[in-house]
Amino acid sequence: MRQLDSFVCGRRHAGGASQATLFNPTSEEPLATVSSDGIDFKAVVEHARSRGGPALRALTFGQRAGLIEQLSKLIHGAREELIELSIQNAGTTRGDAKFDIDGAIGTLAAYARYGAELGERKFLYDGAGVQLGRTARFWGEHVLAPREGVAVHINAFNFPAWNMMEKAACALLAGAPVIEKPGTPTALTAWRIAELVATSGVLPEGAFQFVCGSVGDLLDHLGPQDGLAFTGSSATAAKLRGHAVLVRHNVRVNLEADSLNAAVLAPDVEAGSDTYNLFLANVALDMTQKSGQKCTAVRRVFVPRERLEEIEAELRSSLAAIKVGDPADAATRMGPLASAAQLTDVRAGIQRLSSAARTACGGAAPIRERGYFVAPTLLVAADGAADVFHAEEVFGPVATLLPYDGSAAQAARLVARGGGSLVTSVYSNDAGFLEEAALGIAPWSGRVWLGSDKMAEQSLAPGMVLPAMVHGGPGRAGGGEELGALRGLAFYLQRTALQGFKGVIAPESFCARAATAK
Ligand code: NAP
Repeated sequence: MRQLDSFVCGRRHAGGASQATLFNPTSEEPLATVSSDGIDFKAVVEHARSRGGPALRALTFGQRAGLIEQLSKLIHGAREELIELSIQNAGTTRGDAKFDIDGAIGTLAAYARYGAELGERKFLYDGAGVQLGRTARFWGEHVLAPREGVAVHINAFNFPAWNMMEKAACALLAGAPVIEKPGTPTALTAWRIAELVATSGVLPEGAFQFVCGSVGDLLDHLGPQDGLAFTGSSATAAKLRGHAVLVRHNVRVNLEADSLNAAVLAPDVEAGSDTYNLFLANVALDMTQKSGQKCTAVRRVFVPRERLEEIEAELRSSLAAIKVGDPADAATRMGPLASAAQLTDVRAGIQRLSSAARTACGGAAPIRERGYFVAPTLLVAADGAADVFHAEEVFGPVATLLPYDGSAAQAARLVARGGGSLVTSVYSNDAGFLEEAALGIAPWSGRVWLGSDKMAEQSLAPGMVLPAMVHGGPGRAGGGEELGALRGLAFYLQRTALQGFKGVIAPESFCARAATAK
């Protein structure tokens, strides 16, 4: 069986004894193994610091943007092959595979554009300058300059392409060399992208390294200029946050973790209206796209109590139309879960939610003899405030309808019970409801998506993460922040206050000299 190599210290590393096996989740056939055995992680970090970092920082934002644009084109050139690998190893339908791979291509292209706009600069000004003295001679500015460390990226299994490249796009544009580690169960797509990047010669030596398998003692070698950006479960996030070396050196840590995302239907939304149809379509899409293995997928659907039965019937009929099966079959709308472990977890999660809810459709029972399949599962709770719905993330095609009293205030309080989410969608044509809900929910949700008749025709679904908008959420969701156009670079840059003679530090002088400095 093929073993997926790592790309470290300028060469392929085949690894030793297998650490894990990757499967085809549709057929359960083994596809490949991974092993990072024998990698000298101290040398990997040093390689990034001594080769990749200096080479990237020697370039301007505009020049780095040019490299990122080439990466986008490189991955686009292998799009069909990557879609096939995703179908094989992640069990995604073609549409779901495109969602991941085009997400990677598009995010790289977006960061190439942002970087091109920054042009031939090596640092950025942050906000307007301030007069500090009696006159403007004593002046203050804030600048953002590349840090001299390495960016370690530990990624989740559910978006092997996008998750790796959205992080890499921000880091590389900011001048930070990256060490990428994919989620193991679906590493095949990430591995092929890494092979393309590592062998293309687009990036300077040491700017991109890829570790397939365990990260071993990698984190023990990080220091004060380095950063760790993680996407995955809250349990792993908590372990990493408390890692002794990261704590001792104040290594920057950005965590993207679980989320009990919510949708709120306001009482004013009339059946058959654009907003109503958008709500139903988005909930059904979120539940079944990537078999519900999306960090932004809706888990809690709040509906005015008196409309619970009506919405249950609508969603049951939408979900019944979703054909579940072999993702290679063009008619299939939902494939299997990504791994056997996922299947076990999702089934157990459905059982736990079912202790306080009845099943409208789907459930934990097996639906096919082979493969890691579970049916789209809609649960209906009598008590929207019961603890289990605000504590249990079931990372699959599963959501619960929860009744509320129809007020924006109660909706916001219930959303907050999730302890911090990535995205909450609110559907209403009442501007007052939207405003009260948005402001009540904002402290508890990294993104609030407001659906109404006026935007229905143009809207992109709430589950879609866009490079222009921040991604991340408070509390349980990890407390981190990614993307958001140039905001996504801040994690890799040092914000420094400059105080001195305005003629030296103001953008018109300092910036001009820095741009021409060797
Ligand atoms: P996970 O088990 O926490 O794994 C995430 C990553 O961490 C994987 O690469 C994993 O490697 C690695 N890892 C696990 N233990 C580690 C350790 N002790 N030290 C260093 N690395 C370690 O999560 P997952 O099952 O892959 O992903 C599903 C979860 O991710 C869901 O809960 C979902 O909500 C969350 N998620 C969040 C976002 C977001 O943006 N907030 C996005 C996607 C997913 P191995 O695979 O080799 O174990």
